[in-house]
Amino acid sequence: MTSPQPLFNRLALIGVGLIGSSIARAARAQGVVRSIVATARSAATRVRVAELGLADQVVESNAAAADGADLVIVSIPVGQSGAVAKEIGHHLKAGAIVSDVGSVKAAVLRDMAPHIPAGVHFVPAHPVAGTEYSGPDAGFAELFVNRWCILTPPENADRTAVERLAAFWSALGANVEIMTADHHDLVLAVTSHLPHLIAYTIVGTADEFAQVTRSEVLQFSAGGFRDFTRIAASDPTMWRDVFLANKDAVLEMLGRFNEDIAGLTRAIRRGDGEALFAHFTRTRAIRKGIVAVGQDSPAPDFGRPHPGLPHAPLPRPYAADEE
Ligand code: NAP
Repeated sequence: MTSPQPLFNRLALIGVGLIGSSIARAARAQGVVRSIVATARSAATRVRVAELGLADQVVESNAAAADGADLVIVSIPVGQSGAVAKEIGHHLKAGAIVSDVGSVKAAVLRDMAPHIPAGVHFVPAHPVAGTEYSGPDAGFAELFVNRWCILTPPENADRTAVERLAAFWSALGANVEIMTADHHDLVLAVTSHLPHLIAYTIVGTADEFAQVTRSEVLQFSAGGFRDFTRIAASDPTMWRDVFLANKDAVLEMLGRFNEDIAGLTRAIRRGDGEALFAHFTRTRAIRKGIVAVGQDSPAPDFGRPHPGLPHAPLPRPYAADEE
């Protein structure tokens, strides 16, 4: 996986949060770039990036970061993409590759492409990997290992530039897939955006159910709720932008979801155990498929470590069996 030669001379990271800082760490660890220049919106984040030693150089503006870079990766909330592309457009050097990591692709393509000058290659990307944490401290070099990175080059994209970016992501451990931005947005609407919306909804519903929220909901959260709370802890700015930017695909999937939940509601009301059993059997098989392709742990309880028993377990065969 380690590349013998750096793939790029100078990598510019605009935005050094969970994703940007993970790229910095992984690119360093794999030796895929000769140097990294980084910037973020606030002075506080730039200071932290310097303290963590994530880049060779930390600069104060997006334009300064883009100056002279061979690969520019914009890792910021998607709602900011257009404005940032406008800031850096005139500073990009001929032959450079500009990419991003946004969770929505058609809106990024629409907002950024007009500001990228001729002779600079624009290849949007989305590493499908993350956690519920944000900021430069949250990143880690292994984040992209065995995860997918989807590239959504525009139709007229330069093939060599696409291949170079694919090689970069492969060197960081990702599996690379190429598709259109529209297709990406439809697929991610159901695999990522809708699940987040459901998590945000159910955690909000429980919170409004105030009488139990303060005590029982938290106390008994291991009954399924706990996993929703992890997803619902994801960054509010990022997810606000995702839903605004992928409105049509999310509304399409939400329509289907509402139909399906109406079907299950009817099955419960009618006492139709057969329908419920058939549905749950189908979904269980999907989970097994995800584990089989290595996208999640087969360990029980999603691989969470479990504390030991309060007392040492009885030796087998149990004492009672021996009597
Ligand atoms: P994050 O941890 O909140 O970091 C965002 C970074 O962007 C911060 O360094 C922030 O600087 C900087 N920033 C914001 N606006 C900026 C601007 N106008 N100019 C320069 N820098 C700016 O976010 P993240 O989780 O890394 O997400 C970044 C992108 O990755 C989003 O588009 C998201 O859709 C995508 N993504 C996220 C995940 C995930 O699970 N989190 C997974 C895949 C893709 P300050 O700290 O100074 O505000």
